[in-house]
Order: sequence, then structure tokens, then C-alpha cells
Amino acid sequence: MMRETDPRIAEAHRVPMADLVDRLQIGGLVRTSGELVGPCPGPGCGGNDRFGINLQKQIFNCRICGAKGDQIALVQLVLGMDFPAALEWLAGPAQQLTPEQRAEARRREDENRRRREADADRHRLEAIRRARSIWDASQPSDDTVVVDYLTLRGLPPKTGIPMPSWCRFEPSARLVVPLPNRQNEFQTVHEGPAMLSAIHGPDGQLTGVHRTWIDLSQRKGRPLIRHPFKDDETVSTKKVYGSKKGGAIRLFTPRGADIMVMGEGIESTLSALRGAPMPGTAYWAGVDLGNMAGQRQMGRGLRYAGIPDMADRDAFVPPVWVRHLIFIQDGDSEPRLTRAKLLAGLRRAMALRPGLKASIVHPGEGRDMNDLLMGAAHGTESVSVND
Ligand SMILES: [Zn+2]
Repeated sequence: MMRETDPRIAEAHRVPMADLVDRLQIGGLVRTSGELVGPCPGPGCGGNDRFGINLQKQIFNCRICGAKGDQIALVQLVLGMDFPAALEWLAGPAQQLTPEQRAEARRREDENRRRREADADRHRLEAIRRARSIWDASQPSDDTVVVDYLTLRGLPPKTGIPMPSWCRFEPSARLVVPLPNRQNEFQTVHEGPAMLSAIHGPDGQLTGVHRTWIDLSQRKGRPLIRHPFKDDETVSTKKVYGSKKGGAIRLFTPRGADIMVMGEGIESTLSALRGAPMPGTAYWAGVDLGNMAGQRQMGRGLRYAGIPDMADRDAFVPPVWVRHLIFIQDGDSEPRLTRAKLLAGLRRAMALRPGLKASIVHPGEGRDMNDLLMGAAHGTESVSVND
């Protein structure tokens, strides 16, 4: 039978990649925005984050060995099968199904999809509930190590006034890592004080919390923890609980603001705010680059094009009062890719908020962030995305 006409190919394409990952027992993948990322399951490849599955497009690729493709290609890669064998593994031996059988298969597939979506919604609500209970159990950060941490990072809070409401304190927060090859089992690797920051969703509700563990004896003010299961790796001491979908850490929102400055992290956005804030300007942290960028259109020649995938409804979009959105490009090992992602985020925002102005500022060596931002706000500095 010709490949193009074999109905089992369409059937194989209806197998959700996330289910296939389970069925093939591909381990170590982490869910980022719309993607599963982790070591490559290809023979002799491995690594940490070279391999990714785009859950929207249901395709995978590896940056190093170049393996890529659909469900059938993934089975070929992992099980070392040829095309016909992989197709049979996914969709059974070649045979003509009756129309009734085919309708039944499709009905079951729809049912599965609805169940998965309902599961995902339930998990998200549970995560939000958990984040809210973490927030409710935290304490005001006045006169705590949170003040010392921000001061150590060169971002001392104003004295004589209460700490801002986005920022709370936890005297003892547990940092855990998942046990390898187990489901929902964890090992505690650290317990100590933390700064807790509120993530608010587009509707203004608290949907998540961002936790930064503090160790004032370290240069950057955060504990250094060796990973118990990964050689030469440390455990990240920043963590998000709940949902960050389209949300932000709202550091500073003056009345009547119509400009928004957004960096990825709390510290980088606070650096922009340090000194004199620009008039009429809100400073929000986007939590992570994926949330600011959203999904991009991928394919040949599009890696650095920065074209948003408008089907992605989870990325950050500024509130309607924002007339000029300025993204700060943080220092990154791959500036070209970072820029493409920021561009995609800004272009999505412009498509959804007609009339929005958008710019990127990149604090280079010896450039003062405040000067850059003032230049961007007045259209004399920075890259404008509207051109
Ligand atoms: Zn690979």
C-alpha cells in the first residue's frame, strides 16, 4: 500500500505525542510553555535539553542529532524500527477498517481528547489552589532577609515604607527534586528562607507564586545546591508554583500608567525600576521568556524570524491600558534566539492590541538602563517593533 494512502498514517497522527512519550517511556522531559523538553532519546544522543516536542504541532526535533518528525518518526527513533514496523506498532497491521469501525475509533479518540483536556484543567486548578495556600501561609517581608537579599542584589527597597505587596517572606521553604524513574516522589535537598512573589493572571487573580530561596552567604544571595542525581549540576533555587499562563509579577503599577516595562526576572525588572521610575510607567516581570514569547511559528528558515503562533492563547498579553510595551532583553547565551522570542511576544501583543507600540531594549556594557528606557519611551532609542 502507498504510504500516502494508508489510513493508518492519519490514525498514527491522532496519537497524542504526550501519550506516546509515556508509551515509549521517554524519561526526563519537562513541560515548558507548550513544549516537552529534555534529553534526546535517540541512540547515543542524550544531553539535557536538546530535544523538544511541540505539543501544539505534535512534532519533535533534536538540536544536536537532527532527528525530527511526527509520531511515526519518534517510534522509529526510539525503537530503532523502519517506517512500516513503526506504523504497525502505532496503528496495528494493515487492514481495511469498515466505516463503522473507523467511526468508532474516531469517537473513542474524541472522548480521550476531551478527557485529557478536562484532566489538564483540573490539574491547573489544583496547582492554583496550592499556590494560593502557599501565598496565604507566607508572612510580610518587612525587616526580613528578603530586604537583605534585595539589598545584596543592589536593589535595596525604599526604607521607611512597608514592603511592596507583591513580595512576601517564608521562613522555611522546602526545595525538592523528583526521584528518578518514579512518579510523584521527591527528595528534599534544601530547607530555608525564601522570597515569595505573587503572579497575577490577566484577570487580576493570584494564579501562581514565584519562590526564590535565600542564602546571604553566597555571592548572588541564593543557596548553591548540588543536584543529587545529576553530575555537575546544581538545583535551581527559583521555582514557580501554580500557573504562570499569561500572568506577571506586578512590581509597580502607578495610577494612570500607559507604558509597561517588562523583564523576564524580578531582579532585572527591578533594576530597570531602580533610581527614578519613568513617569506613567508600570514595571512588571514576565516570570520567564516562554511566557513573554509564547509559541512561535516554526519551520524552515523561521527559527530566528520571531513570528508568533497566534493559536497560542497562553502567552502574556498586556492589559488594554498599555499603549507602549517595552521588553528588556536579558543577558543570554543565545541573544539571537532570545530576540526572536521577544519579537514574537511583542508581535502577538500588537496583533491583539491594535495601536500598541512595542520596543526591545538591550542593556549593553556601560549603558545605563534608565537612559535606554527613557530613549525607548521617547522613540529615540531602542529597536521599535512597529517598523
Ligand atoms: Zn538527538
